[in-house]
Amino acid sequence: MTDELNSQGYDIPPELNGQVTITTLDKIYNWGRRSSIWPMMFGLACCAIEMICTAAGRYDFSRFGMEVMRPTPRQSDAMIVSGTVTKKMIPQIVRLYNQMAEPKYVVAMGACASGGGPFKEGYNVVSGVDKYLPVDVYIPGCPPTPQALMHGLITLQEKIDKQSIRTVRWYQKEAIEPIPVPVLGPDIMDPRQYEQIRKLSQQKLAEESQVEQNDSLDTGEANDVERS
Ligand code: SF4
Repeated sequence: MTDELNSQGYDIPPELNGQVTITTLDKIYNWGRRSSIWPMMFGLACCAIEMICTAAGRYDFSRFGMEVMRPTPRQSDAMIVSGTVTKKMIPQIVRLYNQMAEPKYVVAMGACASGGGPFKEGYNVVSGVDKYLPVDVYIPGCPPTPQALMHGLITLQEKIDKQSIRTVRWYQKEAIEPIPVPVLGPDIMDPRQYEQIRKLSQQKLAEESQVEQNDSLDTGEANDVERS
């Protein structure tokens, strides 16, 4: 363990091996976080069964320090989106993500969470959770096997290893704004696109009124011709 943390060029005397380490702040900070990621306990569809297998005795992701799946977002570090993201569920998923404390990570597990999967064109399915949340790791497969999920989690650990305390978003001066929760009406609406939606609807209204005007002009001209 200390070998992995030790910075190169600093020799530790043999009698202190395993007890003392000389390292950087970034390394020890990342090592602590990557070794204690607590996933949030929730699942959306069939992929969740594979996630449950990964947590159980045979694969056992507690070997990565992920022993506890937390039933509350306030104690979770990683959101494993395991399953089909429906338009009915996405407001809840975004709300849960907002309630997680920083640092937090998102893993899109399986074809559905990554891009809609076999239901991509479905009227009720979001084509990938990354339309709303910043995804850190995508895991392909339908469903991904427990081994694939473990590979995804190791990839997440490698990503954490590369972060620096100077640049991570949760230590910047600017406040981190929560992601606007999508609104489910006749269809799902992303509040970040309200301006775009307003512009498009105004454009459409203008086009329709132009067509109506042209129609009435045409009818008027035809009547004039008939009368003459
Ligand atoms: S990717 Fe496949 S296994 Fe996973 S939720 Fe979608 S349909 Fe089910």
